[in-house]
Amino acid sequence: MVTHHIAKDYQDALEKLSEGTYRILAGGTDLMVRNRRLSETPVPFASDVLYIHNLDELRYVSEEKGHLAIGALTSYEDLLHDERVPTVLRDCLRILASPAIRKMGTLAGNIGNASPAGDSLVVLRLLDAQCVLESKDSTRTIPYKEVVTGPGKTVIGKREIIKEIRLPEASFDKTVFWKVGGRKADAISKVAFGGAVKFSDENVADFRLSLGAVAPKTLRDEDVERGVKGKTKTEMKDSAEEIVAAYAPLVRPISDQRSNAAYRKEVALNMIRQFITSL
Ligand SMILES: Cc1cc2nc3c(=O)[nH]c(=O)nc-3n(C[C@H](O)[C@H](O)[C@H](O)COP(=O)(O)OP(=O)(O)OC[C@H]3O[C@@H](n4cnc5c(N)ncnc54)[C@H](O)[C@@H]3O)c2cc1C
Repeated sequence: MVTHHIAKDYQDALEKLSEGTYRILAGGTDLMVRNRRLSETPVPFASDVLYIHNLDELRYVSEEKGHLAIGALTSYEDLLHDERVPTVLRDCLRILASPAIRKMGTLAGNIGNASPAGDSLVVLRLLDAQCVLESKDSTRTIPYKEVVTGPGKTVIGKREIIKEIRLPEASFDKTVFWKVGGRKADAISKVAFGGAVKFSDENVADFRLSLGAVAPKTLRDEDVERGVKGKTKTEMKDSAEEIVAAYAPLVRPISDQRSNAAYRKEVALNMIRQFITSL
């Protein structure tokens, strides 16, 4: 029989995870939808559930040396109204889901769900986020880019929990988050795009592009980015088509109920082109 355990505190959650195999439930905005059967109440989960949404000790934002620390249960809504949170992440959260979902949903849940279309994942990749994964006996901090390995797949161990997400300090002259969905709000992305650039005098000092829903996991290519660094703004704009062409073979979307591969690819490449030429 499936059991449901409400963690008394964070230590209790780690203890439970060390004893058995639980599905962690944070905001529940993915899990409840995935497990719902309209004819059945309560929701019929396939495995034991560890409910952690009540753990206030994992709800925080704090400025640390070199990074911003975000507790795993900090809601999208709280992040949206916190000015310490990078603008590009707040731009993303403003158009992620709807107010009710933002009140419950979390970055950790978006990571745990590991959807190729997860919006916040585009920004976590753009900002070189790190994840603190903890179990009763160990703590490891690893780059977000190593956490999600494919659709629905992560390296998070059965005994581990995402405790915190860290955003390294960074400053940019321009950042954007754009998404194309079936409607203006409450739409899972057909394509999502994050861009960030920093100039030093007239030269590109930092250049990053991150795309969602165009590959099995968030797409970012540091080799292409390195090729743009050092160019003047004019040189960068003049090479827009070359940069777009470099991304073309990397953008490999699928066709599904939301969109088709050809449309997704065209939109993704248009977004890259538009970002570069608008700088
Ligand atoms: C109507 C609707 C609209 C939506 N719109 C969007 C959208 O626009 N963009 C988008 O990206 N998503 C959207 N979503 C999906 C969802 O809201 C997000 O993925 C959200 O971030 C999930 O967070 P959660 O806390 O609710 O996760 P949960 O549902 O609680 O968990 C999701 C997964 O993460 C795991 N998990 C959660 N917390 C932890 C943790 N601390 N440590 C380890 N594993 C953990 C769970 O075990 C589970 O596998 C939408 C969902 C709905 C229902």
